Amino acid sequence: MADSPPSAFDLIPPDYRLRIPGPTAVPERVRRAMALPVLSHRGPEFRRVLSDCVDMLRNVAGTKGHVFMFGGSGTAGMEAALTNVLSPRDAVLVLVCGQFGERFVSIVQGLGAEVDKVDVPWGGAPDAAEVAERLKQRKYRAVVCVHNESSTGVVTDIAAIGALLAGTETLLIVDSVSGLAGIDVRMDEWGVDILIAATQKALMSPPGVAILAASDKAMRVIEAAATQPRFYFDLRKAKAAAKNSETAFTPPVPLILALREALIMIHEEGLAAVLRRHRRVAGALQAGCVALGLPMLPEAKLRSATVTVALVPEGLEGSAIVRHMYAQYHTVIAGQRTKLANRVIRFGTMGAIGADDIMTDLAQLEATLRHLGRSVAPGAGTTAAKAALEAV
Ligand code: PLP
Repeated sequence: MADSPPSAFDLIPPDYRLRIPGPTAVPERVRRAMALPVLSHRGPEFRRVLSDCVDMLRNVAGTKGHVFMFGGSGTAGMEAALTNVLSPRDAVLVLVCGQFGERFVSIVQGLGAEVDKVDVPWGGAPDAAEVAERLKQRKYRAVVCVHNESSTGVVTDIAAIGALLAGTETLLIVDSVSGLAGIDVRMDEWGVDILIAATQKALMSPPGVAILAASDKAMRVIEAAATQPRFYFDLRKAKAAAKNSETAFTPPVPLILALREALIMIHEEGLAAVLRRHRRVAGALQAGCVALGLPMLPEAKLRSATVTVALVPEGLEGSAIVRHMYAQYHTVIAGQRTKLANRVIRFGTMGAIGADDIMTDLAQLEATLRHLGRSVAPGAGTTAAKAALEAV
């Protein structure tokens, strides 16, 4: 090769702003933890790192149950949850209200299990009464559901679904990949048996670690009933290793050091304060978008505090907004790649996010809309956001 490729330090614009619904911007303190020397994954230092992560994750997830970490993304966690509880021909009820519910359907089908679906129009949330009806008709190994559907910005009422399964043998499997640490999660109180999360969202760490928390009820199925082939993601191996504060295989040590630092930051701020900040900042961004003529996709009571999904006005394409925000400001926001392509734009409001971030978003969005030919009252978005911030 004639020339070396440019250093990554020269590839990234200095004013680059990562504002998509994950991965999210990682605070410098968390990034610095990754630059520490790599530790032996079976030595006393890393055992301490891992067990601190487990304790702090239990607190954030509201569980006294088992917590496991694997090198992998959120989808690895989704697949691991299912391979560990299913046997071929088991029946699974998947609640689908967006792209990640559909991903669960594909995974279950790929594993040769039988899928029934509760399908909800995108922008809505599954209704517990309909789930109750379906549970009367068939015995399911698991009900599978996305807590915070990142494609639509909708939160599902997990407590209501969990209440339907209390005292039954059916497991409740919940993807809170884009929820955990940004919206309330009460795994034990709500009756969740397997909770799936990932580091690159509200846990304000880099991508690369899938997190699974499991109840004793789930562990009984995993250990005694499930016959799906599994190896790397086998939670029986993970549980045995966890007894010594270890993982079964070599974990991504620097990423887990980063996660520990992020969890300490959450602990220092206080979980209740962290969740309040997410609600306040997201509410202000949402008010600002509405004032700029971009209504929210979900109705108010379903709206997420970690992902804001705004409808693009008639005559505009979401991709044009996304492109201009990057070309002009190096701000990266998301569109949607499947059913809602070009009809919505999406922002993350998770992790290390504050009022200044969304004020910048709204100022840039206003200028972008004007550039694309919309007439917008000057300062409409930031004024509405400021009023929303002051009201809380
Ligand atoms: N579930 C939800 C709700 C998500 O938002 C995502 C990622 O955006 C995933 C699952 C999949 O995670 P990953 O892209 O890390 O595999």
